[in-house]
Amino acid sequence: MTQGKINVSVENIFPLIKKFLYSDHEIFLRELVSNATDATIKLKHLTSIGEIKVDLGDPKIEIKIDKKKKRLHIIDQGLGMTQEEVQKYINEVAFSGAEEFMNTYKDSAKDAGIIGHFGLGFYSAFMVAEKVEIITKSYKEEPAAHWTCDGSPEFTLTSNDKKERGTEIILHIAKDSTEFLEESRIRELLTKYNKFMPVPIIFGTKTETLPKPEGADEKDPAPTIEVPNVINNPHPAWTKQPAELKEEDYKAFYRELYPMQFEEPLFHIHLNVDYPFNLTGILFFPKLKGDLNLQKDKIQLYQNQVYVTDHVEGIVPEFLTMLRGVIDSPDIPLNVSRSYLQADGAVKKISSYITKKVADKLSSLFKNDRADFESKWNDIKIVVEYGMLSEEKFMEKADGFALYPTIDGQFYTWTELEEKIKPNQTDKDGTFVLLYASDQDAQHSYIQAAKEKGYEVLLLDSPIVAHLMQKLETTKEKVHFARIDTDPIDKLIKKTDDTISKLSDEQKDTLKSKIEAVVASKEYAVQMEAMDSSAAPFMITEPEFMRRMKEMQQTGGGGMFGLGNMPDMYQLVVNTNHPLITEILEAKTDKKQEKLIAQSVDLAKLSKGLLKGAALTDFIQRSYSLIK
Ligand code: ADP
Ligand code: MG
Repeated sequence: MTQGKINVSVENIFPLIKKFLYSDHEIFLRELVSNATDATIKLKHLTSIGEIKVDLGDPKIEIKIDKKKKRLHIIDQGLGMTQEEVQKYINEVAFSGAEEFMNTYKDSAKDAGIIGHFGLGFYSAFMVAEKVEIITKSYKEEPAAHWTCDGSPEFTLTSNDKKERGTEIILHIAKDSTEFLEESRIRELLTKYNKFMPVPIIFGTKTETLPKPEGADEKDPAPTIEVPNVINNPHPAWTKQPAELKEEDYKAFYRELYPMQFEEPLFHIHLNVDYPFNLTGILFFPKLKGDLNLQKDKIQLYQNQVYVTDHVEGIVPEFLTMLRGVIDSPDIPLNVSRSYLQADGAVKKISSYITKKVADKLSSLFKNDRADFESKWNDIKIVVEYGMLSEEKFMEKADGFALYPTIDGQFYTWTELEEKIKPNQTDKDGTFVLLYASDQDAQHSYIQAAKEKGYEVLLLDSPIVAHLMQKLETTKEKVHFARIDTDPIDKLIKKTDDTISKLSDEQKDTLKSKIEAVVASKEYAVQMEAMDSSAAPFMITEPEFMRRMKEMQQTGGGGMFGLGNMPDMYQLVVNTNHPLITEILEAKTDKKQEKLIAQSVDLAKLSKGLLKGAALTDFIQRSYSLIK
């Protein structure tokens, strides 16, 4: 028997490990199962290259709880360790890992981002155990070894009569960690971290129903049998080649990843690259709805099939964090802080590779089945628009497949807009004016007025579209987006010089002050305009610029500071060339004139959905009195 003291410079490292890793105790199981997996894969590898000759069998990893003795066992059939190797790998190598961790992070352990990303390895067992034993038999012809350590730097190392190749780790679970003796807790952890690990992991048994023997009585229950319960899928879809997989396999994998998700994904993107970095994975486009922030952080990051985290910022560009799926890369430096991740060159390359793959996929979907792409547009537009705003490279590609739907259900690309709409919607200064609505019902009368002029109206209703319009206006030449209710249609697309007014300046002024007296609200700025006599006599508009800035402010960034809280600003545009205006001017009594103005203003408010409460009741009463 060997007794010894682990060579430590930090006194009592174990209590420290425990304290600093407080929030993440559960990762010990991931670490121990990873070691068991590594040992199994190494053995397979050495066998496959002919280095060693052993009967591999069908190696598995087994997890067992012994509640009475308060022990947790992790058993593998991997390459095992000789006594010398235990001395070397456990007492020296593994310990140096733990010590290095302590030295690096004892001051910054609060940065929870790094904890758990750091492969603290074998010694993380001491976060939950008061004593740890290793019983291990190497594939080499040597007696097995038995190592014991109670959490102080002292250990014992003896030989043992274990015959089968492999390693058993026995954790004597500490009093404050008995949760790890609960079957449900262990199952939860195995499912979280080891669901897709490459070696079968067995935990408990499950009941399987066998076929009834021939001639059995109908009433007899079918025989059952207890079989080992395999926790993981050792060959998840992302580790296979795209050619091996059918559409159905991707959908099945999606259900495997998100068992609580009932909606199917719209489509998938299979990532597979081995140069200049290693990365595999499958991303899914889900149907997005509701609160977008709640839908983030669903992508899972793996390192060689071991779950690491679902915080992928930095690795996946921000606009793609709304996607779902898996990314697996041995090249992502996981044991470092987030700020490092963002500056790391390899990580940047991964991020732009993913961006490119997503753009290519969207582009090919668009080209191969445009009708299908159009039908999915509403569910993916947020991601595409967000990408166009935030990534220049994506913007360039997306210009080919980004769609601009019209209120009549047509979908145009930018090029098609220029071909089909631009000729008719260019104003006298040569600016291409894109009319759009955000709500078909609320803006119905304005849309109607535009249609009568033969104009096309786009339906742009996503929450970040204001930002996108702003961007398109600055990157494309002579382009202007105008919401349909921001001005009378002839002003939105001004094709000729001002129409001559039927009213004199004096008449205009008189009428203006009378209208102002009736409106009596600062929210509405009265504006006298000479327009086509067929255009509406009264109309409420909302300046595009202010409204858009407010919208941008509400969805974050881009707008001007403080505008989000400003009251709405409206213009009451009066068409001085409309016959009704002449009628109002010539009204016999002041009372009659006021009534006509009030009624007209209310009608204008009504068509913008602004007439509510007492004002609406007044309007209805006045209307009855007018038709009496
Ligand atoms: P790492 O896994 O990063 O090398 P660990 O602290 O987890 O660090 O483990 C240290 C070393 O101990 C491993 O590299 C390996 O050589 C050895 N080891 C740990 N667990 C096992 C095991 N189950 N079977 C064989 N060797 C093991
Ligand atoms: Mg390890």
